[in-house]
Amino acid sequence: MKVTEHLARAERPLISFEIIPPLRGGDVKGLLGLIDGLVKYDPPFIDITSHAAEVIDEETPQGVVHRRVKRKRPGTLGVCALIQNKYDIDAVPHILCQGFTREETEDFLIELKYLGIDNVLAVRGDDSGYQKPLQHGRSANHYAVDLVRQIAAMNRGRYLEEGLLDAEPSSFSIGVGGYPEKHFEAPNLLADVRRAREKVEAGADYIVTQMFFDNRHFFRYVDACRAEGVTVPIIPGLKVLSSHAQLTSIPRNFYVDIPPELAEEVMAASPEHVKEIGVEWAHRQVEELFARGAPAVHFYIMQSAAAIKSLMAKLGL
Ligand SMILES: Cc1cc2nc3c(=O)[nH]c(=O)nc-3n(C[C@H](O)[C@H](O)[C@H](O)COP(=O)(O)OP(=O)(O)OC[C@H]3O[C@@H](n4cnc5c(N)ncnc54)[C@H](O)[C@@H]3O)c2cc1C
Repeated sequence: MKVTEHLARAERPLISFEIIPPLRGGDVKGLLGLIDGLVKYDPPFIDITSHAAEVIDEETPQGVVHRRVKRKRPGTLGVCALIQNKYDIDAVPHILCQGFTREETEDFLIELKYLGIDNVLAVRGDDSGYQKPLQHGRSANHYAVDLVRQIAAMNRGRYLEEGLLDAEPSSFSIGVGGYPEKHFEAPNLLADVRRAREKVEAGADYIVTQMFFDNRHFFRYVDACRAEGVTVPIIPGLKVLSSHAQLTSIPRNFYVDIPPELAEEVMAASPEHVKEIGVEWAHRQVEELFARGAPAVHFYIMQSAAAIKSLMAKLGL
């Protein structure tokens, strides 16, 4: 079922999760253990991130540096197929512009269609230092809106090969990213919201936001979107803060603020106590979001469900 149908049919706000495929050479058993632990919360859908290849510098013991192109986390498709077929939960693979040609994206979408996966989340990805060579007529999507246009075209039966006759239309529900504290490259929030509107006009069915720790950013973002004519559901994305290190890694990687009250409480706490503080904070965020009409909450779990389990217990789920 499509994410939009889940939202439309829900009698109470939904809770969904986002996980990350194992590292290259890793074992999927750990991830399956993680999903086994999430199934009891009855998530309507689970997102699986996607990762572009990166340029890596590796130094030999002789001090020679080799540059290599390496895709550290392949496997999004396999994990999606597992989730959908083993657990009967709708899988939402993320699809990137960065690191993939449009032709590869089309092939990926065809694989998803054959597997009966009809949800995707279209995001640009960040510059990983590697650009796919575009020879022999290959092409690339630059912004998420280009990717949305490609998927929406396929939904109308228009594949990249123009002369293709009687192409079977796909039927993907398309999610896109949104940034309550604005995307780090956008000149201001309004300009970023207008970019979000372009994605919706191109065919996006809903928005999932970047994580935030102060709900006021989310409410302001929703108001700004509505004022600009964006009417699709906006799902808040949340992360449970669970270590001291995240006080610096989260702002560095995701360009979001940690509110002073939360940061100060975490700094003063012992490592064992941090998770409890993060869970309590997230609990208050969820309760307020639901009370003020959020249709769902999407948790960035990535590889560990320990904090989420404590939070679910607090929420009585
Ligand atoms: C819910 C969610 C899931 C994510 N999942 C992944 C993942 O699986 N893998 C991964 O690598 N990353 C993921 N990301 C991170 C994301 O790839 C980065 O934040 C990326 O920098 C922006 O992606 P986007 O789709 O929002 O880009 P876009 O919507 O393309 O926007 C990127 C920037 O360009 C601006 N912009 C948009 N269109 C134009 C235009 N036509 N001209 C000029 N400027 C423009 C926007 O204002 C913004 O500043 C995710 C982010 C979110 C919110």
